[in-house]
Amino acid sequence: MSKEVYARLCVTMAKRGGMYPGMDIPEFYELVQELFTPQQAAISNDLPRGFNSADVIAAAVGQSLDEVAPALEEMADKGLCMSIKKGDTMRYAGPPFVPGIFEYQFMRGTDTEKDRKLARLIRNYKEAVNKQSKPQPDRFPAMRVITVNRTIKAGNTIHTYDQVKQYIENMEPLAVSTCYCRHQAKLIDASSHCGKPDDVCLQFGHGAQFVIDRDMGRQIDKDEALSILDRAEEAGLVHCTNNRQEIDFLCNCCACHCVILKDALAHPKPGLAVNSGFMPVWNFELCTACETCIERCPMEALNMGSDDVPQVNLERCIGCGVCATGCPETAIEMQAKQDFIAPPETRRDLKAAIKARVK
Ligand code: SF4
Ligand code: SF4
Repeated sequence: MSKEVYARLCVTMAKRGGMYPGMDIPEFYELVQELFTPQQAAISNDLPRGFNSADVIAAAVGQSLDEVAPALEEMADKGLCMSIKKGDTMRYAGPPFVPGIFEYQFMRGTDTEKDRKLARLIRNYKEAVNKQSKPQPDRFPAMRVITVNRTIKAGNTIHTYDQVKQYIENMEPLAVSTCYCRHQAKLIDASSHCGKPDDVCLQFGHGAQFVIDRDMGRQIDKDEALSILDRAEEAGLVHCTNNRQEIDFLCNCCACHCVILKDALAHPKPGLAVNSGFMPVWNFELCTACETCIERCPMEALNMGSDDVPQVNLERCIGCGVCATGCPETAIEMQAKQDFIAPPETRRDLKAAIKARVK
């Protein structure tokens, strides 16, 4: 029975898609047997689409509400399903591994024997999937970078989707969690940590409420969210989120641990993989050739030109603004690219754009 239920789970997780869908390889079964009990796997296999109440799910699963309701609560606490309270009713949905289940495992920032085991199993699964997956060089980017707002050149038209501060102003509640990428790496090998701050992963709206309810994050006010942004920018971290105008999280990423930035860095033209739509421009009269911008650039897009001023390779530049925030002479400003296409508006629009590019 349990072998069969995990085999079905492989199909379920393949259908949910995301960056690491279900794949019928030994690493999948080692991982899911650690994550899901057989009952939790069975419930996951029969979860209806979207968010549903426990009684709807119990009917779909063919078990009693008394069995299914506590199991769903435990699954939400373990990050195996998402939950949202609408009125008095809790509703549950099944997320993919990424974004979703894998990240939830490390957002509390805890360090137990089980955390360390899961960190290794998830790493093994991702590596095995990467080895077997065909490269998709022309896929529509699922993620984007948001440039640092205060480095944007005066006179630019700044769209609301370009402004992290706008999301902080307009969305409730707000939450902060541990960076799951850096924490997972630390659980596997503490010496691999890059020293960047860990408590800088921001969630907005429903996503924030979920992590607050499940103790995976802490509710914060707008002032604390803004000070987290400042701390992340000072540390040279890159603001990454979904490639759509409606966002529900903002990761503050380093190119040494974030899978999105690591992939971009390995790409011959990282600017095609993720981009903010902005590019740096220099006031060379202010530049003292200190090379701080070159050291801070996470995409290796800068080098010192023959005139002793930095030169940018725009095919490598993702428009993050990390060079500009680090310049002691404020010699760099970020300018909007004229031909840049706005990100899709909604989750549905992004899915459609990804699907259209695959064809
Ligand atoms: S950090 Fe600023 S001053 Fe230093 S090299 Fe770069 S642009 Fe010039
Ligand atoms: S040059 Fe580097 S640091 Fe500056 S915006 Fe481009 S990718 Fe970011």
